[in-house]
Amino acid sequence: MEEEDVVILGAGIAGLATAVALKRVGIRALVIEKSEGLRATGATLSLYPNGWFAMDALGVSHKLINLYSPCKRAYITNVDTGATREVSFTRADRSGAVLRVVHRKALLEALAEELPKDTIRFSSKLTSIRTKAQKGSSIALIQMEDGTTIRAKALIGCEGVHSVVAARCLGLTVPINSGRWAVRGLARFPQGHGLNHDFQQFVTAGAKRAGFVPLNDKELYWFLTGKATLIGKDMARDPKVIQKEVIDKFAQDLPQLYTVIVQHSDLSTITWAPMLHRFPWDIIFGNVSKGNITVAGDAMHPMTPDIGQNECAALEDAVVLGQQFGELFAQRSRLVPLEVAQALTKYAQKRRWRAAGLIATSYLSGWVQLGGSGWYMKFLRDVVFYRLLHNKVLDVIHYDCGKLPCVSSCRELKN
Ligand SMILES: Cc1cc2nc3c(=O)[nH]c(=O)nc-3n(C[C@H](O)[C@H](O)[C@H](O)COP(=O)(O)OP(=O)(O)OC[C@H]3O[C@@H](n4cnc5c(N)ncnc54)[C@H](O)[C@@H]3O)c2cc1C
Repeated sequence: MEEEDVVILGAGIAGLATAVALKRVGIRALVIEKSEGLRATGATLSLYPNGWFAMDALGVSHKLINLYSPCKRAYITNVDTGATREVSFTRADRSGAVLRVVHRKALLEALAEELPKDTIRFSSKLTSIRTKAQKGSSIALIQMEDGTTIRAKALIGCEGVHSVVAARCLGLTVPINSGRWAVRGLARFPQGHGLNHDFQQFVTAGAKRAGFVPLNDKELYWFLTGKATLIGKDMARDPKVIQKEVIDKFAQDLPQLYTVIVQHSDLSTITWAPMLHRFPWDIIFGNVSKGNITVAGDAMHPMTPDIGQNECAALEDAVVLGQQFGELFAQRSRLVPLEVAQALTKYAQKRRWRAAGLIATSYLSGWVQLGGSGWYMKFLRDVVFYRLLHNKVLDVIHYDCGKLPCVSSCRELKN
C-alpha cells in the first residue's frame, strides 16, 4: 500500500494549481490523471484580474503575463440597435489588473513545471474510493485499476464537471444542463490581425451572444453561445461542420469581421459543448467537504461561461486550499488527519458562498443577455442589467483571494 499526505484527482487547472499551492507551503501531493498527458482541449482560457491575483499567489504569473496582450476593455454591441457600450476591466487602484486570454496548454505547462517530476501520474485509472476511520478522523483509500491502493490523509477531487468525488464521496448533485451551449475556437493570422486588443462582444435579439478577444498580435479567441432552443438538437462534433454552421446559420447578422475570424480558425481548436452547471444552493447547503475529502474547480462549481470565471475560480480554490494547508503545516510540519479535516471544513466555508455567487451571477448574466426580444427582456437587459447591475457583476472579477502563507519550515522537495 502506498502512503501519501495529499492525493489530487485530475491534472487540469484546478488539480495542478492545487498541487503548486501545496508545494509552495511545503506539502507534497500526488496528482492522478486518467489521460496520457496534459489535456489541451479548449485551446484557450480567459484569465480576469482575480485569476491573475491567484496566479501571483502561486508564483507563476510572471511566466505568462508578458506573452499575452492585456485587454483593458470590452465593447458590447447590440447588433439590432447598433448601440455599443464600453466596459472597462481596470480599476483606478489596480491599473495592471486586466483580462488576458492565454493558451490552455501554456497555463497547464507553466503549472506542471513547478512540480517535482514524480508528482503527476498519467494514465492512472481509479476503481474505487473508500474512507477508513482513524483516531477520530478518517483517511482515504484510493484503489487504482493496476491494483495499487493509495492511503491519503487528504483527497481533493479536481476531476472536472463529472467528478466522482463530488457525486459519490460528498453526495453533491450531478451537474445539470443549463439549456445553453457554447462554440469556441482559436483563429490564427500569421501576418497579424491588425486589431486593437479589446474584447468585442455582440448581442442580438435572437438569443445568442458572440465575441472575440486577441491573445496576441496573431491569434484571437472567438466564441458563440446560445440557447438550446436555437439548434433544437446537438450541434455536429466535426470542427469543420461546426465552423460552417456558425458561419452559415449564426453569423449572418453579425459584423463581417466575426465571420472572417471564424474562417481563420485552427480547426483542431473548435469545440462545441452543452453548458452544465450545479445549482448554487447545492453548494451552499451540500457537502463541499466531508472529513478528509473535498473538491475544487469544476468538480465543485461547474458554471456557464457567461462571465468567464470557470478557470479563475479554479485558481482561487487552489490558493485557498494552500492557505488552509499552509496554516496547518506551519504549526506542526506534518499533517494530522483530524486537523486536515478541520482545514478542509474551513476551505469549504470560505469557498461555498463565493462559488455559489459566481454560478448564480454567471447564469443570470447569460439568461438576461440571451433572453430574446420581448419588451420586458429588453428592459431587463438594457436598463436593469447593463445600466444598474453590470458594475456589480464586474466586481466579481476583481476579487483577490489573498497570498499563500510563508511557511518557514517548508520541507525540501526533491526535484
Ligand atoms: C470542451 C471544453 C472547452 C472549454 N473551453 C474553454 C475556453 O475556451 N475558454 C474558457 O475560458 N473555458 C473553457 N472551458 C472551461 C474550462 O476549461 C474549465 O472550467 C476549467 O478548465 C476548470 O478546470 P478543472 O481543472 O476544474 O477541470 P478540467 O479542466 O475538466 O480538468 C479535469 C481533469 O481531470 C481529469 N480526470 C477526470 N476524471 C478523472 C478520474 N476519474 N481520474 C483521474 N483524472 C480524471 C481529466 O482528464 C482532466 O485532466 C472549456 C470546457 C470544456 C469542457
